[in-house]
Amino acid sequence: RAKENGKSDIVLFSSEMRSFALQKLQLENDLRRAIAGHEFVLHYQPQVEIESGKIIGMEALIRWNHPMKGSISPGDFIPYAEQSGLIVAISEWVLLEACQQNKAWQDAGLPKVPISVNLSSRQFLQHNLKNKVNEVLRHTGLAPQYLELEITEGMTMDVDHAIASLVELKQLGVQVSIDDFGTGYSSLSYLKKFPVDRLKIDRSFVRDIMDDPSDAAIVATIISITRHLNLKVIAEGVETEEQLSFLHRNQCHEVQGYWFSPPLNAEKMGTLLGRITCRASQHVEV
Ligand code: C2E
Ligand code: MG
Ligand code: MG
Ligand code: MG
Repeated sequence: RAKENGKSDIVLFSSEMRSFALQKLQLENDLRRAIAGHEFVLHYQPQVEIESGKIIGMEALIRWNHPMKGSISPGDFIPYAEQSGLIVAISEWVLLEACQQNKAWQDAGLPKVPISVNLSSRQFLQHNLKNKVNEVLRHTGLAPQYLELEITEGMTMDVDHAIASLVELKQLGVQVSIDDFGTGYSSLSYLKKFPVDRLKIDRSFVRDIMDDPSDAAIVATIISITRHLNLKVIAEGVETEEQLSFLHRNQCHEVQGYWFSPPLNAEKMGTLLGRITCRASQHVEV
């Protein structure tokens, strides 16, 4: 923590901190065991075109089925996985599993839609990322246009590296999006230089869209930027019909959120994909 804040590398251990350190160690051990013991599972959240109600994509989201603690959400273990470096092994599993699952759905005759995978910072920094992604695509047989990689603005701080990496990834034919858009510090002038396909408007702006005029303005502005830069746009965290119609009025035609569906296990996602459309006026019951 102290190091993260950039203040000092020297940490005096209080008993409270010692127990914190022990907890961290325990978590790291658990994570190691989880990787070996296949305790991770992917859930899938549909992305929907408002007008047609069609599923136009889905995002793979990791869950950890801890033998003692039950299902743990990524926010509670990804940061430790990043710190310990275990994220690399976990991320490789996520990428493979997501591509394999998407290919299996396609082979079963279900509609072909892209699957979005969240990249970790470490992954994005790896010099051989392009080769690893290419290897997974070849191994699974998934066509590159059906894989989307999500990065966050934080990963683009080293602008030259980000551009170089993104150019390489785009050469493979995969899609790239910027996740949680609006929460970071990416300058609009760089946005123009990043070869990305889509912005995902962060759900913190969508949440208060109806009550907070600044959030409404931010969302409308992001949408308009994507139009001018010829990028696709999707809103995250859409929970209500009011939010849906605000977005629609403001020309954002694609949404992801509890209004349509929470993340689903593979079986339920497969069932949902099998339906032609999910009705735009009604959230999904699976
Ligand atoms: P994210 O990529 O922005 O994913 C969207 C998060 O919002 C998911 O949380 C999803 O369950 C949640 N969400 C979706 N719709 C709604 C809604 O209508 N309302 C609310 N309140 N929440 C909604 P989740 O699955 O807990 O994931 C949290 C974050 O963990 C993700 O944010 C992503 O940054 C990270 N993450 C998830 N899976 C992976 C992974 O496989 N690898 C890496 N590196 N990070 C992951
Ligand atoms: Mg994401
Ligand atoms: Mg997000
Ligand atoms: Mg996120």
